[in-house]
Amino acid sequence: MRITAAVSRAGAPAPVLEELELSEPRDDEILVRVVAAGICHTDLNSHIGLGMPVPKPAVLGHEGAGVVEQVGSAVGHLKVGDRVVISGGSCGNCPSCLAAKPSYCREAMPRSFGGRRSDGSTSLSKGDERVASHFFAQSSFATHCVANARGAVPIPEGVPLDVVAPMGCGVITGAGAVIEGLQLRPGQSIVVFGVGGVGLSAVMAAWVAGATTIVAVDTVAERNELALELGATHAIDAGAGDFMERFRAILPFGADFSFNTTTAASAFDAAVQVLAMQGVAGFVTRPREPWTPDMMAMLAHGRSVKGILGGSASPRLFIPKLVELWRQGRFPVEKMIARYDFADFGKAWHDCEAASVIKPVLLVGEE
Ligand SMILES: [Zn+2]
Ligand SMILES: [Zn+2]
Repeated sequence: MRITAAVSRAGAPAPVLEELELSEPRDDEILVRVVAAGICHTDLNSHIGLGMPVPKPAVLGHEGAGVVEQVGSAVGHLKVGDRVVISGGSCGNCPSCLAAKPSYCREAMPRSFGGRRSDGSTSLSKGDERVASHFFAQSSFATHCVANARGAVPIPEGVPLDVVAPMGCGVITGAGAVIEGLQLRPGQSIVVFGVGGVGLSAVMAAWVAGATTIVAVDTVAERNELALELGATHAIDAGAGDFMERFRAILPFGADFSFNTTTAASAFDAAVQVLAMQGVAGFVTRPREPWTPDMMAMLAHGRSVKGILGGSASPRLFIPKLVELWRQGRFPVEKMIARYDFADFGKAWHDCEAASVIKPVLLVGEE
């Protein structure tokens, strides 16, 4: 079928909307009419070739939500007309998949960044030109996408798809990290470095989970203010004054957890320094410059540093919980969303790059 998609071409400053051909879904896939799609920093990085390489041209997009239009013969949990949020791909058979930790699937990286199915085929083309598809098993910057069904999560009626679309990556990455990855318990404390979409999701999750001290750390005053509105008990402007001095005024003996969504080596240092005895520093990005952890400080305090992918959560188990929390008004994810018409893709992309909005969501089609 003919579709419109944002195509990433090597050297282009941003993806541009083009007409493409989309092939039929396979047995384990679904065809989704995309209603909304969030833009995540991994899309920005993959477009310019940072991090895991993605073959070009490619259609990116991995926070898609829409309506199922066709279902492969091997798909058991979905039917035509279902509303879904689409998360990443996984094999379903490796130890992590069997333990409901699909973000640590042995095939997670090729299934996310390989630009094709496991058999080497793509679902997208333009004339004779092959276009890489299946970015995070979906490539949802498009009016329709063929997605691996295993990562598609049914969404109940009455829950707006533009609100829940970012739950497929950014929101589960932050909220899952706190609840599943760090397993924060009521009465504990956490420091969140960087309160963009992932950090704010962590703040909301920490509040829901009963943390009694939630410290947001950012250089942007409006983001710190939003963090306070969404559950943070304190906020520190990372760009002003002695950070540790201000932190110790809040938690003299340190925090049970920190969660770092930034790439500054200084933040990785601070994320370890703020920890109490046996505290855990979770992180979701790499330091952009070489970083040498203070191993003695980690040893002397029994601290550890923990990488957390995809919130260490199963989207099909975890996203329905977030949706219910949203329905109850306890997880107001819409407060960090900025909506754009799909035709304004370039503006949404630019605003995401410039960090002038927190979570851009493209309105791709009617429900
Ligand atoms: Zn697997
Ligand atoms: Zn993402």
